[in-house]
Amino acid sequence: MRVAIFGTGYVGLVTGTCLAEVGHDVICVDIDAAKVEGLNNGIIPIYEPGLEPMVKANHASGRLHFTTDAASAISHGEIVFIAVGTPPDEDGSADLQYVLAVARTIGQHIERSTVVVDKSTVPVGTADRVHAAIAEQLRARGVEVPFEVVSNPEFLKEGDAVNDCMRPDRIVIGASSPQAVDKLKRLYGPFNRNHERIVVMDVRSAELTKYAANAMLATKISFMNEIANIAERVGADIEHVRHGIGSDPRIGWHFIYPGAGYGGSCFPKDVQALARTAQQHQYQPRLLDAVEAVNEAQKGHLFELIQRHFDLGEDEGVRGRTFAVWGLAFKPNTDDMREASSRRLLAQLWEAGATVRAYDPEAHEEAKRIFGERDDLVLCDSANAALEGADALVVVTEWKQFRSPDFGRLKATLKDAVIFDGRNLYEPGDVEQAGLAYYGIGRGRSV
Ligand code: NAD
Repeated sequence: MRVAIFGTGYVGLVTGTCLAEVGHDVICVDIDAAKVEGLNNGIIPIYEPGLEPMVKANHASGRLHFTTDAASAISHGEIVFIAVGTPPDEDGSADLQYVLAVARTIGQHIERSTVVVDKSTVPVGTADRVHAAIAEQLRARGVEVPFEVVSNPEFLKEGDAVNDCMRPDRIVIGASSPQAVDKLKRLYGPFNRNHERIVVMDVRSAELTKYAANAMLATKISFMNEIANIAERVGADIEHVRHGIGSDPRIGWHFIYPGAGYGGSCFPKDVQALARTAQQHQYQPRLLDAVEAVNEAQKGHLFELIQRHFDLGEDEGVRGRTFAVWGLAFKPNTDDMREASSRRLLAQLWEAGATVRAYDPEAHEEAKRIFGERDDLVLCDSANAALEGADALVVVTEWKQFRSPDFGRLKATLKDAVIFDGRNLYEPGDVEQAGLAYYGIGRGRSV
């Protein structure tokens, strides 16, 4: 099938590539000319495992094209995806300016029956607004072209996006006509061969499903962080508690890891946007507000532990010290630092007069873009290089390569022989046996 996709970010590029991989003919459009030029020259703007060879192979085969020319992409696509960003507006609601700009562009150029697919995460009711924006342009052109707006939210995880896209848990289609559903079923047929993954519903339910999924996951994280904070105060170990509850199949093992708070481009903004939607409909979302508040506080928790350890009053304990920081990305296997917990920690350390020696396997370019050149940030070539001259180690992102460090070497290298483990990667006993002090999240003894 012929497909056009607006937006070549994490979602648009991965979706376009996976659709091309199964044989569809895909044109990806972006307004960022440098990104498009790079993609046409084999430069992939994001790090995502497995993506680069797939983009290159499909581009070379002629099934995947990149352009800034919206009109030609729209005339190519019998299905047109909207996969542009929906960042938070000032009040936390989703900013729809990019989505609606694409809708207007579609209205200016469609010539024949088209299914327009909202893949961006958008508040309930957005499909109606996209429909109205397209219809307005058609009216202005004085033409009538049949089209339908469908909701098809994306559930891929950064860091495993290609896999999620090629083997989705479910494909949610929210549509009002059987014809549109059939078209999307044909499009996704190659991903739906072994068992039924397609869930069909009305448009509004599909729009809400995406927010419900992210809000549920964020809730699990904030819940565990709340229990971790209680564990810390009562002298219990959250890791024992986690094992004790995860074995209950009603609770399960996924997403019950306490840590330094959730980040990324989705959970923070989607929880906020859903809360704003609720308020706009005269419902006070007490649970969602609490999920967000717990997370905001949790992002500051590593620094609280650091202050507690170096407690010489009023930041003096931290001032002038050097901290090795392992991990800058908001989670492993990505270079994405949007809303990452590391950003809060670094800001707090700098504010307190400390220097940071950081290492992340993928996020250095992003860190340079965000922070620029500064004297109090050294981006190091390896995890060990980050330790040189450091007083303490802070682990912020749970990259696999940080899981089994040589504690003897850490003891010998760190001036103050202390580890702050923001992801509970280590056993306190193992660390302490090597002669280091250990602070984790919710591990009673760190009180
Ligand atoms: P992104 O910021 O990585 O990419 C958005 C892209 O859209 C950019 O390249 C931008 O230049 C382009 N763009 C903006 N306006 C355009 C226009 N008028 N025409 C063409 N291109 C335009 O965003 P993302 O992370 O891919 O997220 C896209 C949407 O998908 C968001 O709504 C997000 O909430 C949702 N989502 C993201 C993820 C994720 O893990 N990143 C997962 C599921 C859903």
